[in-house]
Amino acid sequence: MVSQTQKTQTFLAQAPIPFYSGGNWVNARDGSIMEVEDPAEKQLLATMAKASREDAEQAILSAASAAPAWAARPAAERATLLRKLADLCERDAEELSQLEALDVGKPVENARGFDVPFGIECIRYFADLCESQAFEQQLNIDGMNARSVRVPHGVVGFIFPWNFPLTLCMWGIAPALAAGNTVVVKPSEVTPLSTLYLAKLMDEAGFPAGVASFLPGDGPEVGEFMTQHPKIKMMSFTGSSRVGRLIGQACGAQLKPVKLELGGKGAAVICDDADLDATAAGLAGAITLNTGQVCCTATRWIVHESVADSFIEKVKAELKKVAIGAGMVEGNQMGPVVSQRQLSTILDYIARGQAEGAELLVGGKAPDDAALQNGYYIEPSLLKGAEDNICFKEEIFGPVAYITTYSDDEDALRQVNSLDYGLANSVWTRDPARADRIARLMVSGNSWINAHNVFAYGLPYGACNASGHGGGVNSPETLLDYTRNLSIAEPLV
Ligand code: NAD
Repeated sequence: MVSQTQKTQTFLAQAPIPFYSGGNWVNARDGSIMEVEDPAEKQLLATMAKASREDAEQAILSAASAAPAWAARPAAERATLLRKLADLCERDAEELSQLEALDVGKPVENARGFDVPFGIECIRYFADLCESQAFEQQLNIDGMNARSVRVPHGVVGFIFPWNFPLTLCMWGIAPALAAGNTVVVKPSEVTPLSTLYLAKLMDEAGFPAGVASFLPGDGPEVGEFMTQHPKIKMMSFTGSSRVGRLIGQACGAQLKPVKLELGGKGAAVICDDADLDATAAGLAGAITLNTGQVCCTATRWIVHESVADSFIEKVKAELKKVAIGAGMVEGNQMGPVVSQRQLSTILDYIARGQAEGAELLVGGKAPDDAALQNGYYIEPSLLKGAEDNICFKEEIFGPVAYITTYSDDEDALRQVNSLDYGLANSVWTRDPARADRIARLMVSGNSWINAHNVFAYGLPYGACNASGHGGGVNSPETLLDYTRNLSIAEPLV
């Protein structure tokens, strides 16, 4: 078991942990608090001040009054502060990793190896980009002195889900701040801890009051209020397609720009010429990463009928090797799911899938290990069946894959594209031309070849259809998404 550092303990011991609004650490005006649970032990991890609409109003007004001065700062100054934040995140990387492991339940080694360093890289990427970005361009138009200027929107509201709270928060706010916006952030009420620790580091880095406020609170309360607020000039939402539709509708009614990064039901096409050992290892890793609570992971495995039996045996062997246990125990590869609610949802999907005729190949229950009875654990699970099954069609958000077979590539593509989701798919084959063709014809924001869950800065990560729209994240275009155009023109007489 990893020992909590002194700083982690001190942070968690605050009762309640205050939130950060307009440059101040405050409790809720109405005194509300919320409890944060450790999913590995089903025990209270921390209490946190819970923001209400009145608290959100205060934070939004501070963000609006801080916006003009922040926008007017030279990009190099914004970049300097972002780099300082990145340095502080690096200094406290262990605390951030521990909070992520305790709160989400993910293996601390994953948080140390991916969530935290990859988030820090994001902050540095956008700090560099905003310095090199030409936010202004002189236009060559006859009879006119004209320029096109990219200006920030003003206040951007962010709402985040619970599965990668820190990394997703950095993916969102780093480009928005770099582009000169101020931000109001609502983390998920399920996993708010690392986001509030990030707020602490922003405070220490010296961001001016009001540039970033962080409001843990309920979605229909604080999130909806933010979405409707006239001083929030753009919304950026990451979460389920169901809530994304509500946010999209509300923003549409106000003609407010919105970025939506939503749910998925990713497919992996396993061709008859695939390296089956590597594919089995890769997809077992994809479905157990973050206990399957990954929007873009491969949850529909569409396998060529000639290799299906062999592939299933190999993947079963891979899943047996996965070390399940608490995130704070080094060596564990898959933690609990985040909550009782999520566990019940997953088990219910598996039962409904079976009732609709799917065969449960492995899993479908809690591990037998007596040491794991205190947490929200479930074994990695495989179902096999027809396409008209609820487990093929709906996002489960757990370590569950649904296997179908196909006879030719057109059949595989038809299956991949039969749902409205469009986040990420992969194709597994030794034939580069076949890989390229299938990758282009799968309808989604991301097509990966002989791998699943591939991320890099400079590689846009976006979506289409029910998985969202708005340009995605992690690329130079993302920085510009957080700006609007201002044309300045003077006719020459
Ligand atoms: P969720 O949609 O239930 O909640 C997301 C956030 O929205 C939370 O902060 C919640 O409090 C808030 N919210 C809920 N109702 C609201 C309302 N009426 N108005 C405003 N805000 C509201 O999602 P979740 O269960 O936290 O996360 C899982 C979902 O997120 C999955 O569908 C997953 O695929 C998706 N996700 C997508 C991406 C991506 O990049 N596309 C990344 C991570 C997770």
